[in-house]
Amino acid sequence: KDEVAPWVIHHRGSAEDKYLNSVDPREKAAIIVLVRDSEIEQLKHSIRMMEDRFNHKFNYPYIFFNEKPFTNNFIQTISKTTKSNTTFSLIPHEHWSVPDYIDMKKTKKEHSKLVELDVVYGGSMSYRHMCRYNSGFFYKHPLLQNLKYYWRLEPDIDYYCNLEYDPFKYMRENKKVYSFVIMLTELSRTIPTLWETTLNFSIKKNLTSPSLKIFSNENYDYNLCHFWSNFEIASLDWFRSSDYDDYFNYLDSTGKFFYERWGDAPVHSLAAGLLLNPDQIHFFNDIGYRHDIFTRWTALSEDSNEVSKCVVPQDKDRNFDIRGTECKGIFDNYKPYPWDPNDS
Ligand code: GDP
Ligand code: MN
Repeated sequence: KDEVAPWVIHHRGSAEDKYLNSVDPREKAAIIVLVRDSEIEQLKHSIRMMEDRFNHKFNYPYIFFNEKPFTNNFIQTISKTTKSNTTFSLIPHEHWSVPDYIDMKKTKKEHSKLVELDVVYGGSMSYRHMCRYNSGFFYKHPLLQNLKYYWRLEPDIDYYCNLEYDPFKYMRENKKVYSFVIMLTELSRTIPTLWETTLNFSIKKNLTSPSLKIFSNENYDYNLCHFWSNFEIASLDWFRSSDYDDYFNYLDSTGKFFYERWGDAPVHSLAAGLLLNPDQIHFFNDIGYRHDIFTRWTALSEDSNEVSKCVVPQDKDRNFDIRGTECKGIFDNYKPYPWDPNDS
């Protein structure tokens, strides 16, 4: 029953057996993870979190992606962390390589400038491949073609709260397209011309860009806000739409995923600004989350009668909802109105 395609290295699982004699209640969705072999311990932690808080009840499959074949040890170890299906796959070479129009001399020169400025990953080619892959290729992988939604998972995260409903179903039933839990500001030196390139695309395509002003300051410059994309639950059909793909191709044609250091988080966010209404973007208030040093959760108020579903950090000041950037407030208070290109 399991189809074996060339890009599948290893596939294991019995989650489907559970639904052999009943209706499968699951959405067409998967948990997707781009990861390196070296991150196995951090990944085990992330899967444990995902299973305990949510997926032990829902059994969504995991798909792991790597530009190099996963080692046997990685596959054997990780496939035993869940009873859900696990698929270990290879990224097609053309999704993780330097296009022929890229000037490598210029790339090296620009990278050393960023290194000199101490920009994180400023000199890293693999980081740029990762950002470009997450911006324009992940949704093109053959294994995702029959799916409608994905949940992105990274190594080294915590989930703090039990989730007792299916967020994929929530997304579909409420016509949500993109979702987030943390919004913050990007390092401006990694994206000096992303904003102007995005505005040029908006003008060229005559887009109304109904949410773009979330990302604009009073001078019509980029306010650097973006949805932190290491957590995402989103619609694959949206990424596969010609509007999104045109935007990615337009960005990619500038070569600046390589010359600058454009991240997939600002790219996804500005695409949402260009193409989505704000009510298609969802903040998952009931998902408590940590990645790196950033954390957020919703605590029950003292007079609440609800039963808490969360294990949360002691240090309240670490909650990004309270001590984070102004970005989330801008999102919350945003009233949709079209972007007028003559403004800028
Ligand atoms: P950061 O969160 O921006 O610091 O970047 P990360 O190092 O966390 O990378 C983002 C995601 O891409 C994580 O899931 C990493 O495991 C994955 N990743 C980053 N670089 C590579 C790479 O070169 N190869 C593979 N296979 N995964 C990568
Ligand atoms: Mn990360």
